[in-house]
Amino acid sequence: MVLALVEHDSGEVEDTSLEALTLARDVADQAGESLEAIAFGSEAEGIAETVGAYGVAVVNAVDHAELDAYAPEAYGRAVAQCAEETGTDAVVAPGTDRGAETLAHAASKLDETMAAEVTDVDVDVDDDYALTRQRWGGTLIEHSRLSADTNLLTVAANEISAAESGGDPADVSTFSPDLDGSDLRVQLARVEESDVEGVPLAEARVVVGGGRGTDGDFSELEALVEQLPNAALGSSRAAVNEGWRPHDDQIGQTGNKIAPEIYIAAGISGAVQHMVGCKGAENILAINTDPEAAIIQKADWAVVADLHEVAPSIAEELDRRGHAD
Ligand SMILES: Cc1cc2nc3c(=O)[nH]c(=O)nc-3n(C[C@H](O)[C@H](O)[C@H](O)COP(=O)(O)OP(=O)(O)OC[C@H]3O[C@@H](n4cnc5c(N)ncnc54)[C@H](O)[C@@H]3O)c2cc1C
Repeated sequence: MVLALVEHDSGEVEDTSLEALTLARDVADQAGESLEAIAFGSEAEGIAETVGAYGVAVVNAVDHAELDAYAPEAYGRAVAQCAEETGTDAVVAPGTDRGAETLAHAASKLDETMAAEVTDVDVDVDDDYALTRQRWGGTLIEHSRLSADTNLLTVAANEISAAESGGDPADVSTFSPDLDGSDLRVQLARVEESDVEGVPLAEARVVVGGGRGTDGDFSELEALVEQLPNAALGSSRAAVNEGWRPHDDQIGQTGNKIAPEIYIAAGISGAVQHMVGCKGAENILAINTDPEAAIIQKADWAVVADLHEVAPSIAEELDRRGHAD
C-alpha cells in the first residue's frame, strides 16, 4: 500500500497535495498496490470525495485531541505509526514546509531514509525506486535510487500536473495515534495574518523586484507597481536584510516563488538563490548599472543604467500611452 499525506483547509485539499497524490497514485499503480491517505484536523473526513477522484481508497483521518493544530513531531509520530500499522511500502507527502517537516520526523521515527523534492519515480522489478529529484532549489536535477522497507518521499511543489483518475469517494477510517509527551514539545500557538496588502507575489502578472541597488529607495518601483494592473512589488534578500522590505516581499530560495508574465528586476545582481525564485517567470527585464552582473546573462532583456532613471521613464511611457496592458 502507498500512503499519501494530504494537507487541507477545512476539507478543501491543497493543490500541492493533489500534485503529491498524482505521483503517489503513479507509484501505487506501478507497484500494483492500493493508495490510501492520511489527513489531520477535525474536518479531515471532508476530503473523501476529492481524494477518491485521485484514486484514494481509504482516508485515515487522524483523531487526537491535541492534533487539530499543527505539531511537527506529533504529526511525524502519527504518520510513522499509521505507516507501520497499515504495512505501508511508501509514504508520499507534498513538498511544503509542513509536508517536509512531518515526513522528516516520520523518517527519523521509522529509522528510514527520506528523499525530498521528487518529481518522478520508476518502480523496478525489485520494488526499488529510481528517483528524479530537484536539488538546490531546482538548479540541479539528481537521479538516485531508494530502497527501504518504507520509502519516504516528498514531491516538489508546482512540478507535477495534478490529474484525477476518477473514482468513488474514499472510505473514511479513524486513526488514533499513541503519542507521548515529548511529541508535543512544539505546537502551533497562533496564526497571524500578514499585513501585506495588494496582489500576492505568487499570483501577480507583473512583478517589480528591487535589490541592494535601490539603496533603500523603493519609491519609483512602488510607483511603477501602482501603474501596472495585477502587479506586485518584490525584493532580494539583501534588501530584506537591510531592513528596507519585509520578508514577505523576498523572492528566492528562502522566499517566494513567482511566475509572472514579466519580472522587472531592478538593482539585483542575479545570485542563484534569487534566480531559483523567479525561474517560473515567462520574461525577465533586468535593470542594472553593471553590464557584467549575472542577471544580465539570465534576462530576456536588459537595460544597463541607473534604476532611479529607468523606472520613472517606464512609468512615464506607460502614462503617455494612457494604459498599462
Ligand atoms: C542559503 C542562502 C539562501 C539565500 N536565499 C536568498 C533568497 O531567497 N533570495 C535572494 O534574493 N537572495 C538569497 N540569498 C542571498 C543571495 O546569495 C544574494 O546575496 C542576494 O540575492 C543579493 O541581493 P542583491 O542582488 O539585491 O544584492 P547585490 O548582489 O549586492 O547586487 C546589487 C546589484 O545592484 C546593482 N546596482 C547598484 N546600484 C544600481 C543602480 N543605481 N541601478 C541599477 N542597478 C544598480 C549592482 O550592479 C548589483 O548587480 C541567499 C543566500 C544564501 C547563502
